[in-house]
Amino acid sequence: MSIPVKKGVDLSLLHPRFVKRLEAFFNDPRIKGRVRVTSGCRTYAKQKYYYDGYKARKAGFNLAANPDRRFGPKGLNGQGIWRGAWHMEQEDGYCYAVDFGLCGSGIKTWEVQNIAKSYGIHPTVASEWWHHQPRQSADWFDAPALVNGGIKEETKEPVMDWVALAKYFEELTAEIQTNPIRRKERSERVKVMQRRLGALGIDCGTPDGIFGWKTWRKVRQFQRINRLPRDGVVGAGTWAEMWGDEPLS
Ligand SMILES: [Zn+2]
Repeated sequence: MSIPVKKGVDLSLLHPRFVKRLEAFFNDPRIKGRVRVTSGCRTYAKQKYYYDGYKARKAGFNLAANPDRRFGPKGLNGQGIWRGAWHMEQEDGYCYAVDFGLCGSGIKTWEVQNIAKSYGIHPTVASEWWHHQPRQSADWFDAPALVNGGIKEETKEPVMDWVALAKYFEELTAEIQTNPIRRKERSERVKVMQRRLGALGIDCGTPDGIFGWKTWRKVRQFQRINRLPRDGVVGAGTWAEMWGDEPLS
């Protein structure tokens, strides 16, 4: 991937179509070497950190969305289908925002914005020139530079197969009854668990599917908060607690 980033920036959950746009944007000779991404995907915990700092008017904290807000069109549960900030992982598993920073001379922020727009990446927050998104609510922004440049975009939306998803989750829950998730495991279900912990405000970092010491400590933290045996093993009890309706106390 040829997207320049500031150290520590995570792009792993950006929608693939967004990644393609960013790659084309950063390949533009007017942009190359002058701009980089300073903030990408954020976990719930990170967004909460930014939001709390902003609310407390701490120095160095910018406007940040409440990670618990719901917005956009309403889903089946009557809540908005989007959550928190566009920097956060959404229900479809993807993030839809990046912040840009200048890292070279010879370009103005408004020029960056105009060039980005031609790649379908728009500044959407009036007070923050750096914040950019490829879409808002249901619609993706047009990307004339990609069309004219002959780069074919995959325009199909990822379709969520809720039935398959429910079945997968059911199978996973059954499997965990007899085969708990333990440290050292590397698997898709570890990734599911890491994402879930992140959504509950316990930040395991980028979900990588590796149950290492960091994840183990987070599992124990979750068990402590919920008064479960602190063995760092995710068996039936811990798993059920992770997916129950009870909020963290
Ligand atoms: Zn932003």
